[in-house]
Amino acid sequence: MPASILVVEDEPAIQELIAINLEHAGHTVLRALDAEQAARMVREVLPDVILLDWMLPGQSGLEFARRLRDDERTRTVPIIMLTARGAELDRVAGLESGADDYITKPFSPRELVARIKAVLRRRSPQLTEEPVEQGGIRLDPVTHRVRAGEATLDLGPTEFRLLHFLMTHPERVHSRAQLLDKVWGDHVFVEERTVDVHIRRLRQALEPACGERHIQTVRGSGYRFAIKP
Ligand code: CA
Repeated sequence: MPASILVVEDEPAIQELIAINLEHAGHTVLRALDAEQAARMVREVLPDVILLDWMLPGQSGLEFARRLRDDERTRTVPIIMLTARGAELDRVAGLESGADDYITKPFSPRELVARIKAVLRRRSPQLTEEPVEQGGIRLDPVTHRVRAGEATLDLGPTEFRLLHFLMTHPERVHSRAQLLDKVWGDHVFVEERTVDVHIRRLRQALEPACGERHIQTVRGSGYRFAIKP
């Protein structure tokens, strides 16, 4: 499950080592040397996971994690803290700051990749390759097939990702900005009406087999995948 991962680490050698291993595992790596640089990058593109070093010059990783958790837009981005400390108190502080997991340095690349995979599976099911079944629709990320009953649905790549995200987060309302962040990975350069265009195409693709019941417009808020009418 390839993901975009922001690595916030001030030691160039460690940053490089992490980046090489993550890229080798198929991920896209973004790099920042401190919290301010990371904050600027996050404002433009929301990564799927943030690997955050605890000890950073300027704002600490811990403070930055709290800042991310306080912001509506970044609240749900999975954070893995990297720490050289192993004390129980620090672990508690790390998890209380909102980190999903932490890795104590030095760590093996294999462990790092496995932890990222576990966090993604837990927090971002739309990035995994597990088939999803919801409301009579079956979506298979490996074969890129979508079936509803006996019918195979023909979806473009964006509609496929959009449906995948909606099906793995059913019944919840997603704003256009959230969908841009989660499906397009970009809320700055892509306009919100782009979402409407692809929602319309998705509805058209689902309509012959499923009718119009699944993709609902929630006025003033966004869109929702409804399992039942
Ligand atoms: Ca450091």
